[in-house]
Amino acid sequence: MSILVVGSVAFDTLETPSGRRERCLGGAATHFSLAASYFTDVRVIAVVGEDFTPELESVLTNRGIDTRGIEHVAGKSFFWEGSYLNSLNEATTLNTELNVFQSFTPKIPAEYQDSDYLFLANIDPVLQADVRGKMPKAKLVGGDTMNYWINDHAENLAKVLKGLDVLLINDGEAKLLAKDANLVNAAAKILDAGPKSLVVKHGEFGATAFFSDRSFAGITKKVFLPFRAPALPLSEVVDPTGAGDSFAGGFFGYIASQPEFTPEVFKKAMFYGGVMGSFAVERFGTERLAQLDPKEIGERFALFRELSHLD
Ligand code: AMP
Repeated sequence: MSILVVGSVAFDTLETPSGRRERCLGGAATHFSLAASYFTDVRVIAVVGEDFTPELESVLTNRGIDTRGIEHVAGKSFFWEGSYLNSLNEATTLNTELNVFQSFTPKIPAEYQDSDYLFLANIDPVLQADVRGKMPKAKLVGGDTMNYWINDHAENLAKVLKGLDVLLINDGEAKLLAKDANLVNAAAKILDAGPKSLVVKHGEFGATAFFSDRSFAGITKKVFLPFRAPALPLSEVVDPTGAGDSFAGGFFGYIASQPEFTPEVFKKAMFYGGVMGSFAVERFGTERLAQLDPKEIGERFALFRELSHLD
């Protein structure tokens, strides 16, 4: 099974209590693809500028990620600068330059048309909707967004939400999106607005899934209780950038690797999301997820199980 992802491929300048990195490889689609590549085939749709070198693209292709959908155009790549000096749980955006993404019209290569899974990673909701519209046969569609788009692009985002099977966002973003400070009530409002299921990420505290009666086709159960998966307590978080995208990559990658989409698969995917997020934060940028030994994933999954298991 293969996942098609659209989202930012970017240069990031990052500042955390562990140090500073200038213009390293980043972007929501980048982090998502690397994490998902340990579970299934991944294809990327994005645009980059002349500053994006073959060495950077090889970080993705070395993991077997299909980058034929990354368009190279004149101009500068997306640039984001973030700081975690105030809080490791929330980035303070210092600068966002959309650059080549500003006038991007996604094209889906013919080889990508048969993708079963579609993930609309963080980017302008107009681009997310465009790709969603061009992939009407996708079996399962996931999506992400952030404050930047929730605050100033609400109408466009509302259209994207209606086409999603699973929305994954941070708790702060969920409350902002629903305009409700209570998470349970916010989740109910978001599910009413479109997505069939919702995964709310709580940074170092794990993630909670909320379901609707539309969450699982063919399963007629009316009420699915929420489900919470842990995050792994770590002694040092070097760089939280991409943790959310890596969670989404592990979550969606695991789902795509399974024959059926069931509540059990969904819940296990929440654990794999946490596993990939926990690796992502151990080094700057993509350093850890580009170099992971697949054996480590199983070992860490076992740790997650121990962490939250009662006999
Ligand atoms: P995360 O830490 O998982 O929420 O995602 C961080 C990544 O999102 C970084 O690598 C940034 O390049 C990317 N990013 C930051 N702001 C935006 C934005 N407004 N749209 C799309 N991607 C963004």
